[in-house]
Amino acid sequence: RPASSVTIPPPACMLRPLEAPFRYLFGPGPSNVPPRVLAAGGRPIIGHLHPEMYEIMNDIKKGIQYAFQTQNNMTLSMSGSGHAAMECAVFNTVEPGESVLVAINGIWGERVAEIAERMGAKVHTIVKTPGAYFSNQEIEQALAKHKPVLFFLTHGESSAGLAHPVDGIGDLCRKHNCLFLVDSVASLGAAPLYMDQQNIDILYTGSQKALNAPPGTAPISFNERACEKMFNRKTKPVSYLLDMTHLSNYWGNDGKPARMYHHTGPVSGFFALRESLAILAEKGLERSWQEHRELAEYLWKGLEDLGLKLFIKDKDLRLPSVTTIAIPEGYDWREMLAYIMKHHQMEMTGGLGPSIGMVMRVGLMGYNCKKPNADMALNALADALRNCKKSKA
Ligand code: PMP
Repeated sequence: RPASSVTIPPPACMLRPLEAPFRYLFGPGPSNVPPRVLAAGGRPIIGHLHPEMYEIMNDIKKGIQYAFQTQNNMTLSMSGSGHAAMECAVFNTVEPGESVLVAINGIWGERVAEIAERMGAKVHTIVKTPGAYFSNQEIEQALAKHKPVLFFLTHGESSAGLAHPVDGIGDLCRKHNCLFLVDSVASLGAAPLYMDQQNIDILYTGSQKALNAPPGTAPISFNERACEKMFNRKTKPVSYLLDMTHLSNYWGNDGKPARMYHHTGPVSGFFALRESLAILAEKGLERSWQEHRELAEYLWKGLEDLGLKLFIKDKDLRLPSVTTIAIPEGYDWREMLAYIMKHHQMEMTGGLGPSIGMVMRVGLMGYNCKKPNADMALNALADALRNCKKSKA
């Protein structure tokens, strides 16, 4: 019998208007999106294969090259969040059975190790507690021992609040015939990073942190060494959607005269990303780095004045975009964060992965990187310290 009647009624919630409250997004991301970027994302969409869209994608590519400080032709944005870039990097440059080395000092290394394991790589790890960093000597020893084709490091470890030193590691990876993959999702635009000068072979970031675009797009760039490896593989990457052979054509990077349909890119997301990259270009990277550092120092001082302890002791290893506070003795961090959300409409968060229960995180990124916001965050924390109950223990 053919189906003839609708038996599932329209859900009541769908007959109510959308409700999304205003929040101060002072956690590790997403961060608040400036009106200019929101407006760009709200423009009428055009087709993903229209010539004007190609122009916009070309602009995005140039904007990413500036933000990453690279001349790499193989530069594009993923149609997806930071995780899409993580998977794209690993899936395309590693073949099943090949060896990968992952530095784990927080959640992001854990994630990449799992991604590599799922696609059949032989995963080796070097592991430290959240907030600790790896010396170049330790990295070189592991490179020599495991002979990986890819080494992964998180520049801005947002779960621990660490800005990992990068100098010299790219050279070690070259010496050991390995690609150097760096995650800058939480640090791009907030802390200095120079893809070409630091010999980073693959670099990615996200749209929703210091770039202040909505979540859902993720810039990524591959240099010649990485292209050499990924376009001379014996097996096809496990993901069709993330296959760089197709993506490089979609972004006009493969030298072919025509761009073919591969998937429908997030047109509004690309409009917004273009605008956020334009804001960074207008401001200038150095100024952006400086503003983040200066505001972070102001925030750190304010936190210490409240009697709070910073999780990363060495100032020069602290991530300017995401500050980690050691949980104050006797307080329940969940209660404090809930209090701040309820009374200040402000998001701050706890730890993530291995740093859960160790830290509370405050992020002031890009558009949010302003003194009055730091004052508001400090005021909210002071209020929570006064009003949340302190255990006697
Ligand atoms: N890497 C780092 C350092 C991050 O902070 C995040 C997001 N918190 C990611 C990767 C993953 O990005 P997304 O949530 O956009 O997938």
